[in-house]
Amino acid sequence: MTRAGQAISRWGIGGGVAVLAALLCAAPVAAKPDAALMGQLRAHMAVLASDDFAGREPGTAGEAKTLRYIAKQWFDMGLVSGTNDPGHPWFAPVTVLAREPAASVAQFRRGGHLLTLPAEDALVLTSGRRALIEGAPLLFVGTGRGPLPARTELEGRVAVLLDGAGAAAGASAEISAQNSTRQNALLAAGAAAVLTVLDGERTLASVVARRKRAGYALASEALGGDLEGFVTAKGFERLLGGAPDLAALQAEAARPGFTPHLLDLTASLEATTRETTIHTHNAIARLPGKNPGAGAVLVMAHWDHFGTCAQAPAEHLICNGAIDNASGVAAMIEIARRLVKGPPPDRDVYFVATTAEELGLLGAEAFAEKPPLPLGKVVAAFNLDSVAIAPAGAPSGVVGRGLTPLDAGIAQVAREQHRALVSADLASGPTSDLLRRQDGWVLLHHDVPAVMVTSAYGDAARLARYFDTDYHRPSDVMKPTIEYGGAAQDVVFNVGLVRFFADVHKYPGK
Ligand SMILES: [Zn+2]
Repeated sequence: MTRAGQAISRWGIGGGVAVLAALLCAAPVAAKPDAALMGQLRAHMAVLASDDFAGREPGTAGEAKTLRYIAKQWFDMGLVSGTNDPGHPWFAPVTVLAREPAASVAQFRRGGHLLTLPAEDALVLTSGRRALIEGAPLLFVGTGRGPLPARTELEGRVAVLLDGAGAAAGASAEISAQNSTRQNALLAAGAAAVLTVLDGERTLASVVARRKRAGYALASEALGGDLEGFVTAKGFERLLGGAPDLAALQAEAARPGFTPHLLDLTASLEATTRETTIHTHNAIARLPGKNPGAGAVLVMAHWDHFGTCAQAPAEHLICNGAIDNASGVAAMIEIARRLVKGPPPDRDVYFVATTAEELGLLGAEAFAEKPPLPLGKVVAAFNLDSVAIAPAGAPSGVVGRGLTPLDAGIAQVAREQHRALVSADLASGPTSDLLRRQDGWVLLHHDVPAVMVTSAYGDAARLARYFDTDYHRPSDVMKPTIEYGGAAQDVVFNVGLVRFFADVHKYPGK
């Protein structure tokens, strides 16, 4: 599971998310835990989440070990490479760029006087490799909540935006998101740059930390060239020189009918970005169907995690990602084993172990940009992410319910397996943060019906406890509290789902 949400869904089915109350079985059939399957899942997870795999970080020896382990499982059970690329069997290359802020220069002038702020008071960032503006007048736009200034007013100028004023006290991430919306609107309306005055809760350090986390992209993604500056309240007071001061500007911005105006200042801003290339891979296998012309079903799980994520003096420095997502990979492997043993499906079944999910769903995006089959042929995709949370017998949640044509088929398989589905999912609906934090979201964007059907989303309390304790922390290790029962149940349910949707008679198509 990844941290940040992505953009808005094109599947924007607003409002009426179907609540399939009919799916709520009166009493879930007491599922007998499959001890053998639980043992198999545990064994995969113990290897993938071992310190030897070093937290499965893309581009490291931990990646090589992880890919070798997954592909050997697939090969031994008789699957074939699913990359459809003879030059790269099993492993589809994905190039990720890690971008870090490098140089930052902010110089201001009032009259003929040069005012340079120390690094702790000003920061300039660009989404490109280098961006520069010189001698641009500063236009004070207040909180940026009013109507946007005209393009003629903004062009060639640096819009100065108040971060804290008017913002309701809230999480720093929320403030940050609101600011970036206002900032992007100003850039789109013609501003040469936006300078945010950190007069609220946010600090320069938190801006840098957030930027670093978001600083990963596919090499195929176009570079931006925008400039964004941040200045502390103290630094801004120095620039203003007291007339007016920051408090006066805040009061002015809060008044009804506020209109943007020039400040008696110009800015020269420059930022550069340092790029590091990470060579990583999606692993892809295929179970050939009898009638591959009829399309394909996808099963996916991200293999990557954070590698070393803590610092001494902590004793355990590795984020092993036992639940996130050794559990999902283990489930995917055992789903494949059961499908291989059964009668051959009509449609092809692809198994995709994605990379760089934790860096922003980048492996899934790379898969969608260069798929081994036309994406329009994929009738259904099932993602597995962090599944070993609820015990056997827990009801299953459908992440992505109401957004695909799969719901009726999922309900039918649930009935056949006497399995309970929760009616109000933790993660359904187009606005759900959880929906946007898993690889299926990328496929939804590419018009592929993608859902996650798992017991982990059937139990709100347990899921919340996981997020509050081990999620993305070095404590997500193999331990007695891991629930193999729910994961085993997910395997059996997803095997049924794949069989159903790979059957051209049971599911004719989209
Ligand atoms: Zn995660």
